[in-house]
This record gives sequence, C-alpha cells and structure tokens, in this order.
Amino acid sequence: MSLRVYLAKPRGFCAGVVMAIQAVEKAALELADEGDLVVYHSIVHNDVVVNRLREQYGVHFVEDLAEIAELERRHKLARTVVFSAHGIPPQVREQVRAMGWSYIDATCPLVTKVHTEARRYAEQGYTVLLIGDSADHQEVKGTYGEAPGHTVLVAVHTHVGRDPRMADPRTVRVPDPDRVVVLTQTTLSVDDTDRTIEILKERFPNLVLPSRDDLCYATKNRQDQVGRIAPQVDLFLVLTSSYSSNGMRLYEIARSMTRAERIDTAADLRPEWFEGVGAVGITSAASTPEDLVQDVLAYLRRLFPDLEVVEEGEWERIHFREPARVPPGVSGV
Ligand code: SF4
Repeated sequence: MSLRVYLAKPRGFCAGVVMAIQAVEKAALELADEGDLVVYHSIVHNDVVVNRLREQYGVHFVEDLAEIAELERRHKLARTVVFSAHGIPPQVREQVRAMGWSYIDATCPLVTKVHTEARRYAEQGYTVLLIGDSADHQEVKGTYGEAPGHTVLVAVHTHVGRDPRMADPRTVRVPDPDRVVVLTQTTLSVDDTDRTIEILKERFPNLVLPSRDDLCYATKNRQDQVGRIAPQVDLFLVLTSSYSSNGMRLYEIARSMTRAERIDTAADLRPEWFEGVGAVGITSAASTPEDLVQDVLAYLRRLFPDLEVVEEGEWERIHFREPARVPPGVSGV
C-alpha cells in the first residue's frame, strides 16, 4: 500500500520560540562558571524542549520564584532568571530585581506588543477585554498583570464555561460600555477570535480594536496550512504538547475538518491509525522541534516504503533580536 503525506509548511518553531531557546542555551553556556541558569515557567510549551534544556544545559525551571530558595540549597546558581517566551506579569520582574538577581527577558516581542497596548489603554481609562484560553495560561497572566484593575478576561466564544474565571462574551459587563478595548492572546483560533470580537462589537458598538490584531503571524500561517491540507487527507497528525495553545488550536481545526490525532512524539503513533488511509497531513506547533516531525516521517517510511511526501508553501523569514542580560539595579523596560 502507498501513502501520501502532506507536510505543512510553515510548521514548527516560530521566531519567538527560536529566540527564547537560543537565549537560554547561550546564557547557560556563558554563565556556566557562575552556576546554573533558572528559567521562570517552561521556556516554550513543549516537554521535549524543556527536558533537553534541563538535561543538556543543566537549566532549572520554576513556576514560582519562591522555589529558588530551595534550589539554592542544592545547587550553585548563576543568580540570573530567564523569562519565558509567553511573558510575565511585571510584578515578577520586580521580584527578581528585589532579589538582586539579573534577568534575561525572552518574552516574544509580539507578546510584549500586547502588554504595551494593555498598559496604554488602561492608562487612558479603558477597560481591556482580554480574550484568552484560560486564566492560568502564562501569556494571559502576563498581559492581565499589566493592568489587573482594568482588565476583564473573556473566553473565546467556543470555549465559554471551560474556565469559570473567563467571562462569556455575550454577557460580560464593564464599568463604561463606551470605553472598552479588546486585546487577545496571540495564539488563538483566527476564526473563533474573529467571531468572539464580532459578538463583543454587537454588545459594545464603540469597542476599540487595535490597528493590527494581536494574533501572531505564526499562529495564522500554521492554521492556514492546516485549513488548506485538511480537505485532502484522511488523517491529520498534529505534533504538539497538550498545553501548547497554538498547537491545540491546530489540532482543533484539523479535527473539525477530518480525522485527527494529537501526538507528542512518534512513540505515540499506532499502526492501526493508517489502515485504509491514503493521505495523511502533518503539522507541528510553534514550539515543537523539527526532529520530532522527521521521526514521524521515518516511522511512516518503515510502514510505507513508497511514501510520497508533498511539501508546499513557504518558510517564514522572521527573526527576533536576542535579549540582553539585565543586571541587578538596572531598569530593562
Ligand atoms: Fe511569538 Fe507567535 Fe511564536 Fe508566540 S507563537 S512566541 S507570539 S511568534
């Protein structure tokens, strides 16, 4: 039997993820004499990436700066924290400064742009309606932290009720309906976000929309490719960690159009999935390393020696500048 694979392009690492991983690798090597590096939150939402950094570079990941005291009892630390690509609430930066530590801010610039908008509109007296996945998502926490007294979290209209802390766009209330702006997490479904904003616009006719929407280019490009490939395949394989927002949106979109399976690595594949299947689509989240995709292709080549691979589309040519280490006592923002 033969199998045709449609390999989505672009797929995998976006510029923000490349920048963040390189920042950690470089800092871990440069600071090796001073001690181990600490990263606040998973640098990107992929377990393979996190485990490789832990094992190959000796990096420690913390979800709370309070964990550092215990780490210091067991390890020599370089007294430097890297902030993840998803961003942080400003209070975390202040805490690091108060500890007298350095930091490297690997927040994706496209997330920082949303933070800046949240601050700016809050200062002008607007209520920020922040559409996101969940109140626990690190990016949502970071943006919310910029103006907590002026921000209301709103669920994507298809996800209402999943997180009770996220308001329903159909019923959300604000102090002044004429001074409302909508911002979003960068990695949501394009279609669902558009519809959620339409609902808000019907409720608040003077709703302000930022000049360019907040969904990032990598999110849009990967979703576009899934939408293009899905009608041609019997099965879509989406390589993503279950807690990657952009990856799970790819999986949802694929699943709404054809049969789809989410996998972390090729080890999750089952030969029975391919019975009676003539064409398979493959994509990967913006935080999934390319070698995991190649492992899936190698697996399929063993099952189908005549495997045909179709790869159309363009790679993105976007690069973000590497972040500098900000020493204690220096304002980096
Ligand atoms: Fe930045 Fe988009 Fe990548 Fe997130 S998915 S790190 S916002 S480029």
